Amino acid sequence: MATIPEYEPYIQPLNAHWYQDSVEEVSILRLDVIHPVVSGNKWYKLQHYLKAAQEAYADGILTFGGAYSNHLVATAAAAQASGLKSIGIVRGMHAADTRTPTLNECVALAMQLVFVTKEEYDRKYDADYHTTLNEKYKGYYIVDEGGAGELGVKGSETIARYIPEGYTHICVSSGTGTTLCGIRRALNEQVNVSGYVPMKGGAYIRKDINNYLPAHLHNSYTLFDDWHFGGFGKKNDELVEFMNAFYKTNKIPLDMVYTAKMMYGVKQQLAAGYFPENARILCIHTGGLQGNSTIKDKLVY
Ligand SMILES: *Cc1c(COP(=O)(O)O)cnc(C)c1O
Repeated sequence: MATIPEYEPYIQPLNAHWYQDSVEEVSILRLDVIHPVVSGNKWYKLQHYLKAAQEAYADGILTFGGAYSNHLVATAAAAQASGLKSIGIVRGMHAADTRTPTLNECVALAMQLVFVTKEEYDRKYDADYHTTLNEKYKGYYIVDEGGAGELGVKGSETIARYIPEGYTHICVSSGTGTTLCGIRRALNEQVNVSGYVPMKGGAYIRKDINNYLPAHLHNSYTLFDDWHFGGFGKKNDELVEFMNAFYKTNKIPLDMVYTAKMMYGVKQQLAAGYFPENARILCIHTGGLQGNSTIKDKLVY
């Protein structure tokens, strides 16, 4: 069986200077520390898929991702640790030449990469396409991009075990919204849950999230898509400076795609008085630090 996670997540309070006593507490749940490669939320999302693949006597996992995808690396590592092979369907033929550090890491973890055109990649949810893939890559269990889907949500419910009672606000970065959905399902309804979406116009993910929530929970969480910095994967000097300043104050590394944008948003909300004075805020560090490889020379950590 898998030897992941290697380390237990823990809660780290932020330096009070960072939030200037505007609320009672701001802390971070460090899911990034559980494993050097399968960091953050990806392990929780994958665990039931790995189990299902093993129960189906599959040879491996086949999944989808871009050239910087945390999900692809996490799948490669988790599959290897579980004695399964892995195939990554990679978006864009150009990715074969550019070979990002992410893709090199996937190869090092024995993942077979298959580069497809953007048009083919867009068929990633088509049942017909899955049939074609199943015929071509026999014995592989297909997992959706980002580990989305019911088993991913179920796996994310586990994260709530590390959230003690007493927190009033949970903040989590959301791409597919799978992680947020699991946390929302598992926590008491009185707790506020907010998703910070790093895509332009990202609030559209609500309809995907609600597919996995009972109707009475459809409006039980908030989505913010103001802090996308130009769109998914985009960054500017201000964001990088924020990441460096955050590290200097709190000794916590953030990733540029997800958690930096969330913390930037939380900081602006704190300054604007969005949270009540008695708020106890827990932000989820969902990992993804390997995605910083392209800005390594600009970071102090
Ligand atoms: C994948 C990822 C997310 C998004 O998780 P979803 O479950 O798709 O919403 C957030 N943060 C990091 C660091 C990630 O790698």
